[in-house]
Amino acid sequence: TKWVYRFGDGAAEGRSSDRDLLGGKGANLAEMCSLGLPVPPGFTITTAACNWFYANGRSYPETLEADVRTALDHVGAITGRRFGDPESLLLVSVRSGARASMPGMMDTVLNLGLNDVTVEALAVDAGDARFAYDSYRRFITMYSDVVLGLDHEVFEELLEEEKARLGYELDTEFTAVQWQDVIVLYKAKVEEELGRSFPQDPHEQLWGAIGAVFQSWMNHRAITYRRLHDIPESWGTAVNVQAMVFGNMGDTSATGVAFTRNPSTGEKMLYGEFLVNAQGEDVVAGIRTPQNITEAARIAAGSDKPSLQKLMPEAFNTFVAISNRLEQHYRDMQDLEFTIERGKLWMLQTRSGKRTAKAALKIAAEMAGEGLITKDEAICRIDPSSLDQLLHPTIDPKAQREVIAVGLPASPGAATGEIVFSSDEAEELKSAGRKVILVRIETSPEDIHGMHASEGILTTRGGMTSHAAVVARGMGKPCVSGAGSLRVDYRAGTLMAMGHTFRKGDIITIDGSSGQVLKGSVPMLQPELSGDFAAIMEWADVARRMKVRTNAETPADARMARSFGAEGIGLCRTEHMFFDGDRIVAMREMILADTEKDRRTALAKLLPMQRSDFIELFEIMAGLPVTIRLLDPPLHEFLPKTEEEIAEVAGAMNVSADKLRQRTEALHEFNPMLGHRGCRLAVSYPEIAEMQARAIFEAAVEAGKKTGSPVVPEVMVPLVGLMKELDYVKARIDAVAKSVMQETGVNIDYLVGTMIELPRAAIRAHVIAEAAEFFSFGTNDLTQTTFGISRDDAASFLETYRQKGIIEQDPFVSLDIEGVGELVKIAAEKGRATRPDIKLGICGEHGGDPASIRFCESVGLDYVSCSPFRVPIARLAAAQAAV
Ligand code: PEP
Ligand code: MG
Repeated sequence: TKWVYRFGDGAAEGRSSDRDLLGGKGANLAEMCSLGLPVPPGFTITTAACNWFYANGRSYPETLEADVRTALDHVGAITGRRFGDPESLLLVSVRSGARASMPGMMDTVLNLGLNDVTVEALAVDAGDARFAYDSYRRFITMYSDVVLGLDHEVFEELLEEEKARLGYELDTEFTAVQWQDVIVLYKAKVEEELGRSFPQDPHEQLWGAIGAVFQSWMNHRAITYRRLHDIPESWGTAVNVQAMVFGNMGDTSATGVAFTRNPSTGEKMLYGEFLVNAQGEDVVAGIRTPQNITEAARIAAGSDKPSLQKLMPEAFNTFVAISNRLEQHYRDMQDLEFTIERGKLWMLQTRSGKRTAKAALKIAAEMAGEGLITKDEAICRIDPSSLDQLLHPTIDPKAQREVIAVGLPASPGAATGEIVFSSDEAEELKSAGRKVILVRIETSPEDIHGMHASEGILTTRGGMTSHAAVVARGMGKPCVSGAGSLRVDYRAGTLMAMGHTFRKGDIITIDGSSGQVLKGSVPMLQPELSGDFAAIMEWADVARRMKVRTNAETPADARMARSFGAEGIGLCRTEHMFFDGDRIVAMREMILADTEKDRRTALAKLLPMQRSDFIELFEIMAGLPVTIRLLDPPLHEFLPKTEEEIAEVAGAMNVSADKLRQRTEALHEFNPMLGHRGCRLAVSYPEIAEMQARAIFEAAVEAGKKTGSPVVPEVMVPLVGLMKELDYVKARIDAVAKSVMQETGVNIDYLVGTMIELPRAAIRAHVIAEAAEFFSFGTNDLTQTTFGISRDDAASFLETYRQKGIIEQDPFVSLDIEGVGELVKIAAEKGRATRPDIKLGICGEHGGDPASIRFCESVGLDYVSCSPFRVPIARLAAAQAAV
């Protein structure tokens, strides 16, 4: 087996398509080398070696050591140096690199190969002793932290003490000799804490770092990140070892990161930050505030620090040419890392850049416009779930804003919540149903869970490429970073802003689009679909086969869904229409009635209310199909629960509290989800179904007259398991339709169908299809009944199931394709066998989940139906499933 792949000097053994084996970083370093770009030579140890490591009790494949030596010699040959040789010093960096970029894993060790002897050689080599000792003390800190497990704060404390002793403000004030003193202190600290000395043998250092990269694949943070992003453990990570180049060799050296287009807005403009005389992680660490790369960006940001363009025009021009070349080559926006060593530019990384949904839409639309990608490719470049970010409120421009600070607009969208200062707290409050804003000086990979639990993130330090900014954009959470005028005191639990003191629990609002931090909550605006978003949606509509409907019963939801492009209603849950005002009173009268006659009297009061609701829905959905489901939930849901409520309702209804209590008790069920609900109600009390059917048909006639384009109502019977249930209810519906047609003299086009939400219905679908003109898969109940897991109680144990690896995803969120999906497939086939033109749709929550939508396409459903906010997501996901 080949465990090691080399690259350097215009050639490479791997290429970008080898990302499974070499990881994203390794594959792209190889590709850049082959393109002839300036990349420090190096090699990649494969992900297969990582998997071997874990499969064999954390040991290495036998030949790996020799392979690494040979590869090091190769790097030496290219650079004219030798690893570990003070006469001709070769230092390396060691970086992890999985298939997908994964914060939370060991990231980087720089300057590896330095020891008490080689540091002198570096001093001579660089002609700068100060630089050499500074590099060595950084190496000791970094290596001890990530490889030896000794927190870097230990060293920072020592450094602070030294600074205080010497009366220094900045690290840069240290002389070479003073750094030497610090190194002595650092090494003593390592001995004291670990009981052994800092490793001096470069090869021992290297294997320590390689082991640390592999081990970090299984650390807690990496595991959490994988779980949140559905990354399989079996991928493993690669290790990249590369000759060092130095961004901290004085004022002609620099290091930086850049995006070929703006990752926040998508604007086509090189966008990035750099630091002069700095090394690797200084930029992302957010300790020094970085400078802009281009003059244009510097001017836009109103910064007085010179841009790279101004400072190092030659390296800048080379960098611009390379970034254009890479974007053309990969046909996507790239995220680049570079270092300039004494004026010479080196590329350290390229990858497809993470971006906000807004940027993703703009970039995809513009690249299709530039002819770089096709429209179908543009559609596939957008993560449908990310559209969620754009479908959420933004601050009303007319709203009063009490701005308490302005930071960087790091991730767009606005959010309001209570201040919390720690990630654990954020998680706790979130699970108690509260909305929080995580406020930190800066965030680290340890904060991932807290960021996830928050509505938005606010930091007081760090740039647009700081950890908080990058991760928040990835998560689609609003983020304001680097709000430097704020003072956070974790111990006191306070946030100081312009003389105000805010405490934990106080409400603030952040606007990730402007960078503003506001006091209290602020009026927000509902999103709308326009510009690039609308364009991509139009392309998606051309590409998709399935229709997208919405689950809605209120006029407001129906209108919103229409504006998001819904093509009808796939589920109108009529029970939701019975809770308001007078309706609940009439409903309760109906439930409490002892005789059919009394029930009909109460139902007669409900009829006009139902009819007027339907007229409004039918007008909004003029010309489109509307599926209306007959009453589904157990009746006791409509009755008062507490003694107080009972007394109040009894008074209002003019019955005794006793009678009300008795009736409520009589309706009590041990297992209501499997009890007297769905079509069972219509079988017991057909007059309810008849009233609803009448309301539907009369409304259809009425709305048809008003709008001139009638809807085709689809009357849906819930929770059918037996053909005869449907036959019985359908006969009633048909009879009502006939009467309404006779009474009005208007012909009504309508369908009667059923939900498929019980396994028996799926298995007997060929028989049920004799009566049903459509099926709508109610995958909420179908999941509940297939698994035998209560959808209302699952949360208490499904998370444990996930943590223990028993399930990968909540089956109520993403369809269990193997089990529940199989039933859907069987029912679709059987239904079609009986009735080839049967209409098939889905109206469970899964109708808005991209992975489930892909499955729906594969079994040939006619439409998906989802909540209004998910309609654009479903339109895009349906298109991606079709291309
Ligand atoms: C379903 O069961 O999937 C469904 C859509 O109906 P409800 O969620 O109202 O039970
Ligand atoms: Mg259901």
